[in-house]
Amino acid sequence: MRKFFLLLIIFISQWAIAQKTIIYCGKLIDVKSLQVLSEMSIVVEGNKITDLQKGYITASSNDKVIDLKNKTVMPGLIDCHVHLESESSPAAQLQRFTLNPADIAFQSTIYAKTTLLAGFTTVRDVGGSGVNIALRNAIKKGLVIGPRVYTAGKTIASTGGHADPTNGYKKELMGDPGPIEGVANGVDECRKAVRERYKEGSDLIKITASGGVLSLEKDGSGPQFSEEEMRAIVETAKDYGMPVAAHAHGAEAIKRAIRAGVTSIEHGTMMDDEAIELCKKYGTWYVPTIIAGKSAADSAKKPGYFPAIITEKALAIGPKIQATFAKAYKAGVKIAFGTDAGVYAHGKNWMEFIYMTEAGMPILEAIKAATVNASELIGISDKTGSIEKGKFADIIAVDGDPTKDIQSMSKVQFVMKDGIVYKN
Ligand SMILES: [Zn+2]
Repeated sequence: MRKFFLLLIIFISQWAIAQKTIIYCGKLIDVKSLQVLSEMSIVVEGNKITDLQKGYITASSNDKVIDLKNKTVMPGLIDCHVHLESESSPAAQLQRFTLNPADIAFQSTIYAKTTLLAGFTTVRDVGGSGVNIALRNAIKKGLVIGPRVYTAGKTIASTGGHADPTNGYKKELMGDPGPIEGVANGVDECRKAVRERYKEGSDLIKITASGGVLSLEKDGSGPQFSEEEMRAIVETAKDYGMPVAAHAHGAEAIKRAIRAGVTSIEHGTMMDDEAIELCKKYGTWYVPTIIAGKSAADSAKKPGYFPAIITEKALAIGPKIQATFAKAYKAGVKIAFGTDAGVYAHGKNWMEFIYMTEAGMPILEAIKAATVNASELIGISDKTGSIEKGKFADIIAVDGDPTKDIQSMSKVQFVMKDGIVYKN
């Protein structure tokens, strides 16, 4: 009897794998040719796209049909800069002392789900407490609903720098965190900090090459690692196949990071002409996060939202990113979509498309930055980032046509990740 049931289960599961899903797309954005195609059919089997054809192909009785004839279909979006563990609030500083890892984990599951349902099927989490590694694993196992996550685990900073976890503490609580806690000084500690992240299961390395806005430190833009230290980080990360993302606001920090060989510059606020040329010379990606700057500046205008030391920086640095993005885009710097979600409310990632187009990037190029380019930056362009045979079935659809009305990027009505429908 038991054997019979086992065979039955095997039979049913094989039948389920063999079943095709056919998606009829009224409009389909080809993110490689930057064209909007009409009346297309996507065939999905298991977690992969197995065919893409013109017209509405005939389905057999065994096939499942998803009708998106009155929608605009595109590949699942990719956000290269999120923080799934947290969300901005006036309580953020106090929460550093009140939340346990389990509290962080539970709230991160809500942010992960919100992100996926907003159409982002893959994200790069560029820094948290390390709970983001467990979150990635839980999503992978199907225990939690969320996007596919590539995570840096804990960001690496220098002592007192932007991601030193004891920044702003009173002296007896500060201690002297080291590579295990993500704080490194000198070449040897930098190497060790990378190896710690590898040991913990990070997919990439995130460093704070300059000061930052939302931490309790005075300077939000000056360099915080030497070029030599960053080179040690990049070289060590390379040994483990990990790209390096560098948070950097000030021009000197940006230039040092590029010359040290980082994969991407995050924010890049004070990028000058020389830094732009270096980006192009080294093929360094730029992840602008315009929305982060704008929303930090907006929050800073609310009395008591941030401590005074942060307010000042948020007002000075935040509003500058959009103009830098415009300049870098015009100059031909490689741009990948990233928003710093968590600094603003998760799920509003789409607003970055508005800011990118305001600054002169056509919407189809912005969508390309959030699909093709983002997948290249993460190193997964063979797996996702376009609707093509053999890629993961990461497919979303919006109401309306984003090329005519950018607001339609907020109207995500259909989300499929890995062949599973999460929203329809
Ligand atoms: Zn960030």
